[in-house]
Formats: sequence, structure tokens, C-alpha cells
Amino acid sequence: MEIRRVSVLGSTGSIGESALDVVRASGGRLGVAALAAGSNWRRLAAQAREFRPLLVTAADETAARELGRELAGTGVAVAAGAEGLQRAATLASADIVLSAIVGAAGILPTLAAARAGKTIALANKESLVAAGGLITAAVREAGGALLPVDSEHNALFQLLSGRDAAEVSRLVLTASGGPFFRRDGGLDDVTPEDALRHPSWSMGAKVSIDSATLMNKGLEVIEAHWLFGLPLERIAVVIHPQSIVHGALEMTDGALLAHLSPPDMRIPIAAALYHPQRVALPWQRLDLAALGTLEFFPPDHGRFPALELAYAAFARGGTAPAVLNAANEVAVQAFLDRRLRFTAIVEVVADVLARTATDQESPDLDTIMAADAAARAAAAERVRISPAPRRG
Ligand code: NAD
Ligand code: MG
Repeated sequence: MEIRRVSVLGSTGSIGESALDVVRASGGRLGVAALAAGSNWRRLAAQAREFRPLLVTAADETAARELGRELAGTGVAVAAGAEGLQRAATLASADIVLSAIVGAAGILPTLAAARAGKTIALANKESLVAAGGLITAAVREAGGALLPVDSEHNALFQLLSGRDAAEVSRLVLTASGGPFFRRDGGLDDVTPEDALRHPSWSMGAKVSIDSATLMNKGLEVIEAHWLFGLPLERIAVVIHPQSIVHGALEMTDGALLAHLSPPDMRIPIAAALYHPQRVALPWQRLDLAALGTLEFFPPDHGRFPALELAYAAFARGGTAPAVLNAANEVAVQAFLDRRLRFTAIVEVVADVLARTATDQESPDLDTIMAADAAARAAAAERVRISPAPRRG
């Protein structure tokens, strides 16, 4: 097997670090072409010393200067800002680009990689939610490929490989239900610490809060639409607190084909990075007898309205999913900063969607970025006038 070089966008994050673990465990079959992250230059410098990429880039200019000092004389090129990210996303010597930046900041680099004909291992679901039409068209036109890293989508991708799509009636995505699935009473007073305590996965802050509101699953059904081409009526969600079954295909004959694995993101990351091969990995195996019970429940749309809001935004079409995503990013950050109640996250998103006209059929990039910016401004204003959470 030839060495496969990966550019890791978002290398200091939860997915980025897991991906570097996969590279570490590869016995030289995987290498690193470029590393890109936000502002954590100390971590970036340490990663660069370990993996010796051609290029390292930080979004933050000050961080990039520090990084330049740290890596002087190592032969590793250092870049900064949007231009550095663009270079990392399109580097000629990269065989695969892992898109693992969080949020809409992932749109431009993912689109750049798609336009460069790259094979993209995609964790950044927000880019498909906001710009799925543009990204999938660019992948097709430039002859690249999109390999899902998100655990549910990676599971569905594995299940769908080599199968006739006409035999599949529905896709089923599982959701853990988040930390509040079994909690009694209202959710008005939950704190960021409560919401960040995910029962089965260890993830970055934004996706952890999205899991707690179920907005994550809303973003994921839209992501699944763009990856697999099925209409949203044929993409279903079921709550599964153990996070062992990640996805299932409901077949036309009534059979249900499910994908199971331990809840460890290194498994789907490795499946994407080695695709189409499957390699031996040293991590935990599933012991079904030790697990004993797997549970499944319907989503509670009354307590967790985000999922239906996402279906509705997708049905509206145009820039509505981009607006949903941008407003959600602002509201989640406000909740993490203790400026917004937990239950107000989805209220803010619903409000911004209701006030925004989004009737463009197939929006171009400028239209999407303008809708994203306007939604952020509207959400920030809505957060400002909403009652702050009580201190406890
Ligand atoms: P994280 O917050 O842990 O890491 C985000 C990374 O992006 C960091 O390296 C950060 O420096 C970088 N970054 C942020 N803004 C940037 C910018 N403007 N320019 C360059 N770099 C920037 O997030 P995460 O949990 O690793 O999630 C990353 C993506 O993967 C998200 O889209 C998330 O929804 C998706 N995802 C994550 C998991 C998980 O288990 N963590 C699972 C499935 C999907
Ligand atoms: Mg997921």
C-alpha cells in the first residue's frame, strides 16, 4: 500500500486529534501533507514537529507569527488566514483532505478542495448544510470524491457501498439523545457544563451542544440528503442512547441492515482515510454479550424542537438551511458564554428563520455567504434582547 498523505483542516480539534491518532497508528501508511487550525499555535507547532507536514497554517495572524518562530529552520512552511487555509485545502501533494474545522468556517476550504478535485473526508457537516448543492456539484465537476466521516453517515456509506439504491426505501440515522434525554422537567436552567457532559461521545463544544438540543441530528439529515441524494421524507431519525448502532438501511423487502461499532470517532475517520481498503486497527472491539441491551425510542419533538425546525428549513430550500446553521452557531456560542438560556437556542434559530426571506432556488456562493452573515447579525440582535439565564 502506497503512503497516503492527508491534509488535516482543524487539526487541533477533537476530530483533528483523533485523525492524527489514526495516522500515528498507521505504521507509515498514512502521512500528513498540511495542518490547519485556528489559534492554538503551541499545539500546531507540536503537531508539526511530530508529523513534518509541508505546510502549517493558523487562522489567527498573531498565532501564525508565533508558529513561524517556533518552526524556524524545520523546513515546514507557515501560512496564515484565509489564504493559508486555501493553500492547505488544495495542496498538490495531498491525496486526501480531512475537512474538520467547526462551523461555517469550513465552507470555503471544503469548496476549494472540491474545486481542486480532491478526495474529501468530510466531518464538517455545516458546509453541506449551508452549501451542499455547490459542494456536491464541484466534487462532480472536478472529479473528486466526498467520503463521510460523521459516524452515522460513514455507517450509511459503508452499508450503501456496492448496493443498488433502488432497493433502499429509507435511511435511518441514530441519535444518542444527548445528556438530557432521560432528564425530567424543563431544560430552561441547564448550564453549559450540564450540556457539555455527553453520555457516549467525547467531542468539541459546538457539536456537543448541538447533540444536547438535537440540532446536530437536524444538520445531519440535511447532510445525509446531500451525501446520498435521498429526499428528507426518506431519511428517518431514531434515538439510541448507547450510540452503538450508527445507521441503518431500511430495504424495500422489509429487512433492516444496521451498522454497529464502538463509539470511537477514530473508526469512521480511519474508514474514510483508508477507503476503499479496511485495515486492522488496535482499538476496542464490540462485545455484544457484554453490552446486553440496545434501546431505541422515537424523538420527542415537543422537548427537542430543533429536529423538526431543520426539516422545515430544508423544505423551504434556498438559503434557509444556511440561515438555520448560522443562527444556531451564534445561539450556541451565546449559550456557552452564559448569555442565553439553553431552550432559547432553538427559539433564536426559529425566530431568525421566520424573519428572513430565503426564496433563492439554487443560491450561489455570494448569496449563501450573505445569508450566513445576515443571519448571524439577526441572531446576535435576538440574543441581546432575550432574558439572560439565571445565575445558580
Ligand atoms: P473542535 O471545536 O474540537 O475543533 C475545531 C477545529 O477547527 C480546531 O482545530 C480549531 O482550531 C479549528 N478552527 C475553528 N475555526 C477555524 C477557522 N476559522 N479557521 C481554521 N480553523 C478553525 O470541533 P470538532 O468536535 O472536532 O468538530 C469538527 C467538525 O466535525 C464539526 O463540524 C463537527 O460537527 C464535526 N463532527 C465532530 C464529531 C466529534 O466527535 N467531535 C463527530 C462528527 C462530526
Ligand atoms: Mg454524527
